[in-house]
Amino acid sequence: MTDSTSGHRYENLIDSHFHLAAMQEKGLDCQAILQELDREGFLGGIDICLSSSDISASRSLTSVYPGIRHAIGMGPWETGSEEDTDSLISRLKSLLECNPDTFSFLGEFGLDYYWKDYGNPSCQIELLEAELELAAEHDLPVIIHDREADSDMEQVLCKHSCPNSGIIHCFSGSRELAFRLLDKGYYISFAGNITYRHSEDLCEVMRSIPKDRLLLETDSPYLAPIPKRGKPNDPRNMVHTYGFAAEILSKDVAQLAVEIVDNFNHLLSFCPNHQAGRQI
Ligand SMILES: [Zn+2]
Repeated sequence: MTDSTSGHRYENLIDSHFHLAAMQEKGLDCQAILQELDREGFLGGIDICLSSSDISASRSLTSVYPGIRHAIGMGPWETGSEEDTDSLISRLKSLLECNPDTFSFLGEFGLDYYWKDYGNPSCQIELLEAELELAAEHDLPVIIHDREADSDMEQVLCKHSCPNSGIIHCFSGSRELAFRLLDKGYYISFAGNITYRHSEDLCEVMRSIPKDRLLLETDSPYLAPIPKRGKPNDPRNMVHTYGFAAEILSKDVAQLAVEIVDNFNHLLSFCPNHQAGRQI
């Protein structure tokens, strides 16, 4: 997918969801990857932090890349332990307070009924609702994780308002669900699994998303797109997902990239009025 005509392999690309700390744990050299991305025109995206050590890793890696924004959240994986919702929320609040003006988004958080060692649905829903309330209190857009929990997710998100917008990350649901969530003000982000075999239904959903509400992501180090499937993923693989999506949407990659930059900037306009909200 390298594009020798433009000279910049990652020109104008945005990756709306990646985990730098987890990439490092998989042995990827994030510093070198970020340097290469920057040299080749990558604009940035969102590094999803899930703990205070993720925040430290992210700080030291991204301080020279203002296009990379930060998110913090307590995912459903936190509900399998002894820690109850109140304690998880107070831990999250203290991460927000100890790192003022760091986060543009609250997330990722949500529901995941795939892994059986996570907490039961009612624990997960309680945490999801508490984080939606916290996001509204802090005027932060949200990043939502939904795996095999579409019906509960739809119920919860339709019950809560979404005053600062948000992203449904790695969308894998139906067209109907996508449209309910678009109505609530969410952006729909597709990951590398759109490139996998048997993704025809998901491709159909992508075609139906209004072009001003679409985002793309890698979810690195997970879900590497074809032809990198099975390897640790990193944001350089955005070229494959953008290339595939452009083909599905019958437009060229450059045009798709411009549309996605506009969408990302529009989403940033919902961030609180500090430097996290400035456009990239
Ligand atoms: Zn993620």
